Amino acid sequence: MPRLFRRIKEIRGFIRDVKCEGNNVSVGFVPTMGYLHKGHMELIKLSKLQNDITVVSIYVNPLQFGAGEDFDRYPRDLDRDLELCAEAGVDVVFAPSDEEMYQELPITKIEIPGLTDKLEGLYRPGHFNGVAIVVLKLFNIVQPTRAYFGEKDYQQLKVVERLVKDLSIPVEIIPVPTVREEDGLACSSRNVYLSPEERQSALAIYKSFLLAQKLFQGGNTEAALLKQAIREFLLKHPHVSKIDYVEITDENLNPVNEVKEGDRILVAVYVGNTRLIDNWRISHEEV
Ligand code: AMP
Repeated sequence: MPRLFRRIKEIRGFIRDVKCEGNNVSVGFVPTMGYLHKGHMELIKLSKLQNDITVVSIYVNPLQFGAGEDFDRYPRDLDRDLELCAEAGVDVVFAPSDEEMYQELPITKIEIPGLTDKLEGLYRPGHFNGVAIVVLKLFNIVQPTRAYFGEKDYQQLKVVERLVKDLSIPVEIIPVPTVREEDGLACSSRNVYLSPEERQSALAIYKSFLLAQKLFQGGNTEAALLKQAIREFLLKHPHVSKIDYVEITDENLNPVNEVKEGDRILVAVYVGNTRLIDNWRISHEEV
């Protein structure tokens, strides 16, 4: 079993001791909200490969949820997560309480104009402020050498990369490609909300990416055309009740008119009452 810490002081002490004992001990850090799945395990696997010790945080951060969102019903199962971490050879799990993380609610605000105010930021006001605050706090607590973030949350990855660069935070951000179920649905803790019928319809997201990629490979490079094709395809499916956005951007999240290899499709879609996000790197490669 991994060492489980619930207190900031304790994990700080542990990390300090580890760094004192060995020269140049590298610490890999995987921040999560728990209810671990194959996607998280890929981040952990890479961290294990690249570092001497691996720390996983499990914390459902209230600050990144808006009013009326799923904070209260977000799936939580620490025992199961600890088992999975043990199997994966994780050294330390940090699972603080809300009181431990936020003795007082932070009043500092973090925004990155042009990055936190679009896409997810538009539909979830305050979301990236909450993400940035918790990630910075966790970095200051764990002091990792490297930290692992999934491309599944592509905008989050870009926000964290920019924060680290702008604030000279001494950590290397390692992006990890999106892990999908066999049929193509991106792994997500929120997939447990889906009924079997909704789960079937949710596949439309992945299929819409393949459709757009096929159009692109056939010579259609107009972003508006591809976005329209994705929208129409998604809305054909039962339970796909609402689309927050379908956007195509360059790799830095600037919208494009003409699509080229390496650009990203980003979508946020409601399937039933469940809001799913996913993204896709457009390429000439066969899938
Ligand atoms: P979460 O627990 O959803 O906050 O995710 C924790 C970390 O795992 C984030 O860096 C996510 O981007 C990453 N992650 C979640 N799902 C996937 C996935 N399907 N593939 C790769 N990384 C993922």
